[in-house]
Amino acid sequence: MQRIIIENEEARQNALRNLHLLDTPPSESFDRITRLAGRLLGAPVSTISLTDNDRQWFKSRVGVDLAEIPRSEAPCNYAIHADEVFLVPDMLKDDRFKSSILAKAGIRFYAGAPLITRTGYALGTLCVVDDKPRVMGEDDQKLLVDLAAMVMTQIEVQNTIGRIDPTSGFSNEYQFFEDLEDLAQRHPDERRVGLLIELASPQQIVHGLRVLGAAFVEQLIRNSTETIQRTIGEGTRLYHVGPTRCLVLLDESDVGDVETLSGLLDTRLRDTISSSGIPVMPDPAMGTYEFALNEVKNSRDVLRRLYNAADDARKTGRGIASYNEHGDRAYTRSFQLIGDMREALMDSGELTLLYQPVVEFATGKCTGAEALSRWHHKTLGEIGPAEFIPLAEGTALIRPLTAWVLDTALSQVALWSKAGRFPKVSINISVRNLEESNFAGSLAARLDRHGVQPSSIQIEFTESVLVSYSARALDQLGALKRMGITIAIDDFGTGYSGLSYLQQLPASVLKIDQSFIKSLSVSEHDQKLVRGIIAMAHDLGYRVVAEGIENHEAYDMLASWGCDEAQGYLISHPLSSAMMEEWLDSAAKG
Ligand code: C2E
Ligand code: MG
Ligand code: MG
Repeated sequence: MQRIIIENEEARQNALRNLHLLDTPPSESFDRITRLAGRLLGAPVSTISLTDNDRQWFKSRVGVDLAEIPRSEAPCNYAIHADEVFLVPDMLKDDRFKSSILAKAGIRFYAGAPLITRTGYALGTLCVVDDKPRVMGEDDQKLLVDLAAMVMTQIEVQNTIGRIDPTSGFSNEYQFFEDLEDLAQRHPDERRVGLLIELASPQQIVHGLRVLGAAFVEQLIRNSTETIQRTIGEGTRLYHVGPTRCLVLLDESDVGDVETLSGLLDTRLRDTISSSGIPVMPDPAMGTYEFALNEVKNSRDVLRRLYNAADDARKTGRGIASYNEHGDRAYTRSFQLIGDMREALMDSGELTLLYQPVVEFATGKCTGAEALSRWHHKTLGEIGPAEFIPLAEGTALIRPLTAWVLDTALSQVALWSKAGRFPKVSINISVRNLEESNFAGSLAARLDRHGVQPSSIQIEFTESVLVSYSARALDQLGALKRMGITIAIDDFGTGYSGLSYLQQLPASVLKIDQSFIKSLSVSEHDQKLVRGIIAMAHDLGYRVVAEGIENHEAYDMLASWGCDEAQGYLISHPLSSAMMEEWLDSAAKG
């Protein structure tokens, strides 16, 4: 059989590098073939030798201690250009080798068969050597070639495992990273467009798995990959980069067509599929990202950007979105903040609590203060809770974060009550905290530890229609109330859930969202609304707090409507604990 050997040294070395074989530890699967070669051919020394830039490195060796020899003196360097077996019957009679290291070490005979990849690159050789001159018959030469083919099969198997998705049989993300790095090296001046296809929404997957079982995802992947491959054509590689995510990399010539192509894919992928006889309509989302290959610093970044684009497409409901740098910066920042939060929680001094006074309309006296967290990040500066709390809520970090807020607030309450000051401190928690199995119990233990009465604190959380309160959350709230803790619903009016819905929650305080208060002096509509909320809330037995009061007009209106408590910059900005003490002192005098 005539085999093609590609004589492009740079590409050959790239092919070798891409296999990640050089300088790896010995492996029994290769040693087995080397031993077999030595035994069958009666040679004292046999090796699998890879031809690197300036050395022959032995992936496997029997009967020799050297790990590598200089390439220039090695017969293997000739063998890689040979079509079949390269023979040196007697080195001492061959001008090319008679003064080589091998000859000096007593080697006389050499036979090497090149290790050739499917794509035609010779990586090195399987070779046998002897300390006596020899001739090698045709049968033995064939045997050596067959054994070399076995080495290649072993290399290919090793290389395939970990690069193919076992469920779909398509290349996975590792293959994509490798291909992209390879492309960037070979064609730095070209551009590419990545197209990431999320086959269905996460909700659809969860729902499908529940109702139809694992067969649903298999069916979805099978149908979708078929559709995608048919649409992009056989010549373009399809990568299966996540359980339900596929990726294609389009050539420069296709860059202009990506919109047409993604539109076509979108239509075709929405075609109803049948899973266990039940029709399902997939809900795909696609992200695209066009880039110059010489800008690829990290292939993982390309995939991350594509994920972000597909995520944007899903969130905005547009179906297709292209990568947007501005959005990516926000993602990167969020990612950094989440990463740094754990450290900030370790008593780093980066997190602090401020206290914003709350006063009673009827008497003007301070009844309490709301604890508001602040993060002074070591490099990014001040980060507001509106930014970092939702990030924590999206991860398990909301647990230690709320634990830190509770401990900090409770130790402050303990200090203040020792000093004879009694502002009731209101602490914000996340609805996610109420899902913790023993939130109320651990809060009781904390109160105990700090020596704080439950009646000295209030817990507030933002109601939201997106949250349907689970039985566990309601249990926890019930337990907090029974302990004697006041429960307040924050930002009332933004969740559209209405008072009747809220009645299932054991809260006794409503905080009207500041967006309604801000516009009070100018918007008659908001005046009516707020007045109505106060009246209804009172009918249902709630105490009402107005947040975000910034001017006297709003303050006076709210007072005249019977609102119970006031909070806002007009009264005071959030203060450090020391400034809060000063504020309390001057308020008492004044
Ligand atoms: P919130 O609980 O509704 O807190 C009131 C927010 O309004 C605070 O913003 C406060 O500084 C601001 N504010 C108070 N008076 C005025 C005013 O007159 N005008 C204007 N424009 N703003 C005013 P902040 O501190 O940025 O907190 C934002 C939100 O982050 C809070 O809203 C709360 O939902 C959440 N948050 C803050 N700290 C924590 C915490 O420790 N844990 C949890 N889970 N959430 C927190
Ligand atoms: Mg609040
Ligand atoms: Mg609020």
